[in-house]
Amino acid sequence: MKDKIIRGITKNKGIRFFAVNSTETVRKAVLLHNLSITNSVLLGRLLSGALMLGMELKSEQDVLTIKIDGDGPVGKALVTVNRQGEVKGYVNNPQLELALDAETKSIDVARAVGKGTLTIIKDLGLKNPYMGQVELQTGTIAKDLTYYFVASEQIPSSVGLGVLIEPDGSVRQAGGFIVQLMPETPDEVISQLEENLAKFPNLTDVMDMGFSIEKIMTDFILKGFQPEFLEEMEAKYKCNCSYKKFEKGLKLLSKQELREAIEKNETLTVHCHFCNKDYNYGKDRIVKILSEMK
Ligand code: ZN
Repeated sequence: MKDKIIRGITKNKGIRFFAVNSTETVRKAVLLHNLSITNSVLLGRLLSGALMLGMELKSEQDVLTIKIDGDGPVGKALVTVNRQGEVKGYVNNPQLELALDAETKSIDVARAVGKGTLTIIKDLGLKNPYMGQVELQTGTIAKDLTYYFVASEQIPSSVGLGVLIEPDGSVRQAGGFIVQLMPETPDEVISQLEENLAKFPNLTDVMDMGFSIEKIMTDFILKGFQPEFLEEMEAKYKCNCSYKKFEKGLKLLSKQELREAIEKNETLTVHCHFCNKDYNYGKDRIVKILSEMK
């Protein structure tokens, strides 16, 4: 089944929402990066969050990036998404595995990330990209994004992100939701939403029972609010790197460096962090690149 992102608003216009089934997307990330269980959950949550945030971009060229910079053993992670529902990402220490949290017996993403910052960068084709940064609150990503919306964009929000792992370590379900209060939402709407959220079990457990993300929004999270679905889009993990694209990157090297590579008959290799592909540029190619430089 294909992954899907949806967005909409409740009939009373008080709450807007996003939701995603990102199971295949996260499976692909796990495969590409050979992720440990801890990292599958960490990157899975980030990819799911980014897919929903990407729905807010306006034009096809816009790109949104979420960057995690923590002092834990994984510490750094980055995901980037476009308006077409294409997402990609990487973590700094993909194979690192941590023991389960001693108290909750859950996968300890917070410890893997540590303390630090969450940054959101929106490249909207303007001269300078928009950037918002907050301190990590928990390092579990969902709560950090919730805090980001409140602190950086002044939007009261609730974010849920989940990755359900099979006993063998593979991804069984992955998804997420975001609900946001529109300005001047009446108190009774807010308290009903809070009650719904408090009663809602666990997102990926409910997905695993066979509920679609639409049904989860209608029957649980936005129960009683008549959600209207405004847009639906396919989501997927996709890296848009290419031999040609990285060749442009090589032109950022100095002529001296390129001449040296030619003299030593070296092959220059460029590695893509998002999909782990290597691109090799041999002597003939480097000569050509050098000849095209001003
Ligand atoms: Zn790539």
